Amino acid sequence: MNEHNLNTSIKFFNMDKEKVVKELLRVLKNYSFTFRKENNFRLLITTILSQRTRDENSIKAAKNLFSVAATPQQILKLKQNHLERLIRSSGFYKEKAKKIRKTCEILIKDFKGKVPRTREELLKLYGVGYKTADIVLSYGFGIPTIAVDTHVNRIPKRIGIVDEKATVEKVKQTLEKYIKGKDRLIVNRGLILFGREICRPINPKCNICPMKKYCKYYKSVELISKVIKNA
Ligand code: SF4
Repeated sequence: MNEHNLNTSIKFFNMDKEKVVKELLRVLKNYSFTFRKENNFRLLITTILSQRTRDENSIKAAKNLFSVAATPQQILKLKQNHLERLIRSSGFYKEKAKKIRKTCEILIKDFKGKVPRTREELLKLYGVGYKTADIVLSYGFGIPTIAVDTHVNRIPKRIGIVDEKATVEKVKQTLEKYIKGKDRLIVNRGLILFGREICRPINPKCNICPMKKYCKYYKSVELISKVIKNA
């Protein structure tokens, strides 16, 4: 590696994260999305159904279920094998049916059948972890919080805003340190679109990416190819 390449890489890896986050926000604000308010109960159940499966499978299961039962009371009236059959397409359907039933019971017993609006309370529901709680808060209640899904977890690590080994909670904390208020809702929705179109899990489209100037992953790949070329 020549001295110029080395200096460029050192300068890059010391890059001001605040500046990079600002740039990412500018890119994400170019996406147009509507902040449609979701039905909190349906969103909660759909998010449970989406655990460890693809979106199309959980959406199909949710449609089946809600066509028959769309409230905690209605779901609890279903026989266990009927509930399992309705959500079968989501995979792990026996486990998910149990989670949904228990969640409905807790909602009725402790929250008057309504979905609670704090993270602490949501985490008391059966089968609800940090990710599901944050999705309900952000997409359901519109509360500005970072919800770390697969795209929100991957992209900031690639860019270098968050440490590659950071846990989901650490990713959330780091992003929330730099991103405040309603911008958090933009980041949640924007990174999903950006992750589907540009920064895909496999074969990211770095060549056309507006973030490449700031991206740690891109710079590393670029640096390696320069080293190979000059070897
Ligand atoms: Fe993702 Fe590549 Fe863009 Fe970096 S340059 S954000 S890795 S698409």
